[in-house]
Amino acid sequence: MEVKTSLLDNMIGVGDMVLLEPLNEDSFINNLKKRFDHNEVYTYIGSVVISINPYRSLPIYTPEKVEEYRNRNFYELSPHIFALSDEAYRSLRDQDKDQCILITGESGAGKTEASKLVMSYVAAVCGKGAEVNQVKEQLLQSNPVLEAFGNAKTVRNDNSSRFGKYMDIEFDFKGDPLGGVISNYLLEKSRVVKQPRGERNFHIFYQILSGASEDFLCKCCPCEICELTGIDQSVLERAFSFRTVEAKQEKVSTTLNVAQAYYARDALAKNLYSRLFSWLVTRINESIKAQTKVRKKVMGVLDIYGFEIFEDNSFEQFIINYCNEKLQQIFIELTLKEEQEEYIREGIEWTHIEYFNNAIICDLIENNQTGILAMLDEECLRPGTVTDDTFLEKLNQVCATHQHFESRMSKCSRFLNDTSLPHSCFRIQHYAGKVMYQVEGFVDKNNDLLYRDLSQAMWKANHSLIKALFPEGNPAKINLKRPPTAGSQFKASVATLMKNLQTKNPNYIRCIKPNDKKAAHIFNDALVCHQIRYLGLLENVRVRRAGYAFRQAYEPCLERYKMLCKQTWPHWRGPARAGVEVLFNELEIPEEEFSFGRSKIFIRNPRTLFKLEDLRKQRL
Ligand code: ADP
Ligand code: MG
Repeated sequence: MEVKTSLLDNMIGVGDMVLLEPLNEDSFINNLKKRFDHNEVYTYIGSVVISINPYRSLPIYTPEKVEEYRNRNFYELSPHIFALSDEAYRSLRDQDKDQCILITGESGAGKTEASKLVMSYVAAVCGKGAEVNQVKEQLLQSNPVLEAFGNAKTVRNDNSSRFGKYMDIEFDFKGDPLGGVISNYLLEKSRVVKQPRGERNFHIFYQILSGASEDFLCKCCPCEICELTGIDQSVLERAFSFRTVEAKQEKVSTTLNVAQAYYARDALAKNLYSRLFSWLVTRINESIKAQTKVRKKVMGVLDIYGFEIFEDNSFEQFIINYCNEKLQQIFIELTLKEEQEEYIREGIEWTHIEYFNNAIICDLIENNQTGILAMLDEECLRPGTVTDDTFLEKLNQVCATHQHFESRMSKCSRFLNDTSLPHSCFRIQHYAGKVMYQVEGFVDKNNDLLYRDLSQAMWKANHSLIKALFPEGNPAKINLKRPPTAGSQFKASVATLMKNLQTKNPNYIRCIKPNDKKAAHIFNDALVCHQIRYLGLLENVRVRRAGYAFRQAYEPCLERYKMLCKQTWPHWRGPARAGVEVLFNELEIPEEEFSFGRSKIFIRNPRTLFKLEDLRKQRL
């Protein structure tokens, strides 16, 4: 093997941050910048891939590139998202380990593009044949449909995903794709009625307009928002003007004022759109479902909204940031802790590394008794007058002393004189930074109630799909029990997701946005610095470096390199570990470069690995 020098090339920076000398924030950023300037948008931290959005198309995703990375060792070629995809796929196919690809980063950092690159790489290298190709096609083609309905142009990203997506791709024992399952999380449904300045509604609305014939548009425009849905006009009119509250045997109807009627209209539009979206996902799932019951190997790809800090942060940001706390928690658990624990398991000496464990912030949000979500639910369900302010008061009582919670309302608050913190806000010190949340709308958004008059009107529609989307509108099935709140639903689905991820072997892609202008060639140091800080990337390198960059079980290691040593070639009769000892001894690999664990050999520096690969190539 000709060792690619790109991992070590000074001109274009080091390809693996583990090799960076000296290691500090400046050198880290400079290395990324140097590489970015040379069109090297990928850099490793061990097996983690850092990806910087180039904001222009680079010729690095061609079929030739796919061939180049196919069946190659992770460290053999220059860093690439294809190398990670190949490693994950082969590990799934050959070692029977379910995989997940976790893609994180802020809006516009390149997560969705990365997820598509992983999927197209896997599609290119896995099985062939008409049937398999049809499965692949269906899996890949689900993307444009979901993007049409779930993506929109925002200030940060022209094609911003406004929902979280997790897709399990299922394979058979040979590694041929069988089908898939998509889960969607928290569609930003408010966009359908209101868009921030300079932003657009979901793509689909513009696509319909630009794709439809003039004839259709002429007919369509004067058409009433009733004719389309097949609802009798008087029914809808009544539903927008009255609200009926039923309790026990009593029914009370009150007239809505104008503002309340607008509110009802918007609530209906949001509900209709988000239910339609979920229906779409269900339909896609039906068509991409694996047609067999054989045991499946699974590769999950998670593309979910990154951490959000806006000027005004509301319930949506709170929920999104909670999800990111949980992902960070998994990252810590699986990478950092696992790294330390593996050393302990293998009996290898380990210098303890301090790292921030964000479990305490997750607890602040999700604790069943004292968590913010639990208190919000309690407030939403409490009889009497409930407002965002009473919710905030409650938070102040319960969270005032929590290290990561800040507010000015409570008398004993440490933040009484902090004028940067308005009375209507609370602040959370997230792992990624401080975020101030405006409480206005929390109660309402968590309640997520649609007046029953509206769901009943929708159920009366002559349109079978719309009718099916509002099953609770069926008067025969009136359920006075309150539906679960938005927060508790999200918490439950995040918990399911985390459980799912924990059973899989994680592969990380950490996406970074180089500038705020959606522009090519611009690398804003301060912006990148902020991201590497909150992604905890430096900490990640430290942990990797404190130990060994590479490790492998004795058997495969001996199998691969036994040809380099007379005593082990062609057969080594004895324990694999002893064989590797003999091998390393004969090759005169310096003692400080490796350690013998209980079941694995640990190699400190990737360079040692290159040397072995080099020797092997010479002998082949
Ligand atoms: P995110 O999902 O993180 O919000 P996207 O993946 O949608 O971000 O990326 C935003 C935009 O950046 C894309 O529409 C595309 O124009 C550009 N982009 C992202 N990744 C790449 C890439 N690898 N190569 C070229 N352009 C990219
Ligand atoms: Mg996206």
